[in-house]
Amino acid sequence: MSLPPLVEPAADLSVDEVRRYSRHLIIPDVGVAGQKRLKNARVLCVGAGGLGSPALMYLAAAGVGTLGIVEFDTVDESNLQRQIIHGQSDIGRPKAESARDSVLEINPYVNVVVHNEALDNDNVMDIFRQYDLIVDGTDNFATRYMVNDAAVLLGKPYIWGSIYRFDGQASVFWAEHGPCYRCLYPEPPPPGMVPSCAEGGVLGVLCASIGAIQVTEAIKLLTGVGDSLLGSLMVYDALEMTYRKIRLRKDPGCAICGENPTVTELIDYDDFCGAVSDEAQAAAQGSTITATELKDWQDSGKPIELIDVREPAEWEIVRVPGARLVPKGEILNGSALADLPQDRQIVLYCKSGVRSAEALAAVKAAGFKDAVHVQGGVVSWVKTVDPSLPVY
Ligand SMILES: [Zn+2]
Repeated sequence: MSLPPLVEPAADLSVDEVRRYSRHLIIPDVGVAGQKRLKNARVLCVGAGGLGSPALMYLAAAGVGTLGIVEFDTVDESNLQRQIIHGQSDIGRPKAESARDSVLEINPYVNVVVHNEALDNDNVMDIFRQYDLIVDGTDNFATRYMVNDAAVLLGKPYIWGSIYRFDGQASVFWAEHGPCYRCLYPEPPPPGMVPSCAEGGVLGVLCASIGAIQVTEAIKLLTGVGDSLLGSLMVYDALEMTYRKIRLRKDPGCAICGENPTVTELIDYDDFCGAVSDEAQAAAQGSTITATELKDWQDSGKPIELIDVREPAEWEIVRVPGARLVPKGEILNGSALADLPQDRQIVLYCKSGVRSAEALAAVKAAGFKDAVHVQGGVVSWVKTVDPSLPVY
């Protein structure tokens, strides 16, 4: 879909800017006018992680005049496999500050605005209002729906991307001219159904493939060139090396941009997306132990059956001593239930405590009433019991 330029051109380019952007200026479709539009543009990146890294770096290099970074997290060693805007010496620093430094190193003419805070219902509208365009690099469903709803309510376009293992997706959402995220995904997936990158992994370079699409679409929208991805979903398969474009329609029944919207203001997104399912929450109630309690049980010689419900690849990285591996899927489909012992207490754990709560619901429903799961999973075990083990 062809759209008019999103921003007006800046008054002029300096001599230094003409030199810096000369390879843009000689593209007829961009030219001086297009570069002036980029200079005048205000773009917000939600997240300075996997997608935010390449997005911020190329938006900066392209000469976007004002770049906002909203990010509350700090740089962890496990980020560096894909979050290339951060480096070894940034470990422990706020990602927003590390990203700002990299942006200014790439292009000192960019005005960087750091929002070193978590995006939430209290600040999202005020922050979004300051920008022409939003690039969504979030990795969880609650924030994705919040980004969508805030953008729809403010009438702003945004560029969405998602990554998982070898698969990526991207699109442009702008309710005034086409579909929104809710038109594509009216409901979040059931909690625990779709693993996050922290659980399932992501090929680092996939961030560049999808981030590059997002930046390309940003530049096209800002300067008004080409056909936007608005109304299309790009699906990338790195293993097959295929890009497929699927047409998207605006859903007249969409809860926020449809003909009779039921969502007219921001909602409780954690509740909407459910950190864990109601069943899992009920199962975990009164049946949750800490990693330290697990250690005490083991040391006291209490007979327990310790079951790791993660995937084999995760088991290979780190495990709690004394555990055996039974992936969650084998518990949920019932195939592993017959092998569970009746004569000892069952203790389940996963990486963070979400999947083990889901498995706990199935185990308790199968009659193992005294089964428990470990709050915070193996991550908590490493933090509180054995810091010599790796985390991932
Ligand atoms: Zn919609």
